[in-house]
Amino acid sequence: MKTVVCPGSFDPITFGHLDIIERSTKLFDKVIVVIMRNRNKDVGSFTVEERVNFIKCCTTHLDNVVIDKYDGLLTEYARKVKADAVVKGLRAVSDFDDEFRQALANQRLNPELETIFLTTSAEYMFLSSSVVRQVCELGGDISAFVPPQIRDDIIKRLSKPGEQTNSLC
Ligand code: ADP
Repeated sequence: MKTVVCPGSFDPITFGHLDIIERSTKLFDKVIVVIMRNRNKDVGSFTVEERVNFIKCCTTHLDNVVIDKYDGLLTEYARKVKADAVVKGLRAVSDFDDEFRQALANQRLNPELETIFLTTSAEYMFLSSSVVRQVCELGGDISAFVPPQIRDDIIKRLSKPGEQTNSLC
């Protein structure tokens, strides 16, 4: 049984993330989507609970996905859940440098743990959580960026910061 971890901020989950998660579910037996705290980014726009709910709503059709959260080293988390590999999505040259470095550092910390890169699907190459937040905050249409079941909650939440959503799709 092969278990992989898909780590990220998912602030919020986008079609780009979902594409990587869906493709991973076809390749591996169990896919753990884990919300990690990224110390290079600020606290984030959505709470961890909101992000977990959004991911849940978007992955109900995938029966080998588990959602989790972790504040610590990815290599420690992977050890804890007995993961065989980490799966990351690669968008463009800009992702490569950072992801490559992280993968090498993780290899040092846990030589048993492989990092596997899936190239983005061309239609999502430009897509990131920050694009979603920026477009939404300026009143733009985010239908092409996030799944329909979480779209209204994202719009509501970003128009009223501080008010939490209870996305129960
Ligand atoms: P973001 O840059 O959107 O904040 P995260 O930190 O949540 O992304 O990223 C989690 C993982 O998902 C990373 O491996 C990232 O490269 C990947 N990812 C994010 N958006 C896309 C996309 N549009 N296509 C492919 N992979 C993506």
